[in-house]
Amino acid sequence: MSRTAYVNGRYVRLDEAAVHVEDRGYQFADGVYEVIAIKDGHLVDEEPHLQRLVRSLGELKIRAPMSNAAMRVAMRELMRRNRVRNGMIYMQVTRGVAPRDFAFPANVPSALVMTVRRMRPQPANAVEDGIRAITIPDIRWHRCDIKTVGLTAAVLGKQRAREAGAYEAWQVDRDGYVTEGTSSNAWILTEDGTVVTRPATNAILSGITRRSVLELAKANKLQFEERAFTVAEAKAAREAWITSATSFVLPVTQIDDRVLGNGKAGSFTLKLRALYMSYATGDGATA
Ligand code: PMP
Repeated sequence: MSRTAYVNGRYVRLDEAAVHVEDRGYQFADGVYEVIAIKDGHLVDEEPHLQRLVRSLGELKIRAPMSNAAMRVAMRELMRRNRVRNGMIYMQVTRGVAPRDFAFPANVPSALVMTVRRMRPQPANAVEDGIRAITIPDIRWHRCDIKTVGLTAAVLGKQRAREAGAYEAWQVDRDGYVTEGTSSNAWILTEDGTVVTRPATNAILSGITRRSVLELAKANKLQFEERAFTVAEAKAAREAWITSATSFVLPVTQIDDRVLGNGKAGSFTLKLRALYMSYATGDGATA
């Protein structure tokens, strides 16, 4: 079955879907995006993802292409046409098509593209063995809280991880503190059993999975702190993990050359992952 994409109000075959060469997303990365996991036909944390999309658009003064209600309808139609019940939906909004000029064009409608795909399986044994993260300098700009399609630093970082045989790269600020992964938030469990993740400032993307995991931590009375941690602290941690809409909660068992614990996923991380997975498939997810 051929895949179907949504392009500015039309459902088209993915291999025929196209945008204009003067789309500002293509020319300037002048746009934002969202990724929402689909589990058993449910969009996991749909509402906060749509709220974050609206926030990202607002920060860049890009007009929303449609209401969130209309977006929900289009997303469901795209899922139905692609017959995807487990996977992810990608949506991208750009400032639209206009002759190339940095300043905003007048009266140009924003452009919306959406695609759906089945979830790529996580690497074999990624959950049981955990994954390796390397550390790299954070070379990004000062508005990492906006989910823009300007992802050059993430592209370079992930490639470095690939070449090092790692799954993710943790970006490190000038003071030696971990900001986040290239496409995930970073977490550790300290020796004294405290969950630590960086506060959601402009230095990181406020992950929706991060938010839900923090709520689960609160609800389950787990000890946690939102504060920055150094690479040294991470390497001395009892456990570590990443969160993202598509990785959920994924154990990190090696940071650079430092193996955490016995090199297998820690029991705390696995418990947290199980909590999150039941939240994502259960009542917490919206239909
Ligand atoms: N940080 C960055 C830089 C990301 O790209 C992502 C995923 N898009 C995340 C964190 C995780 O966010 P979420 O849990 O909303 O997927």
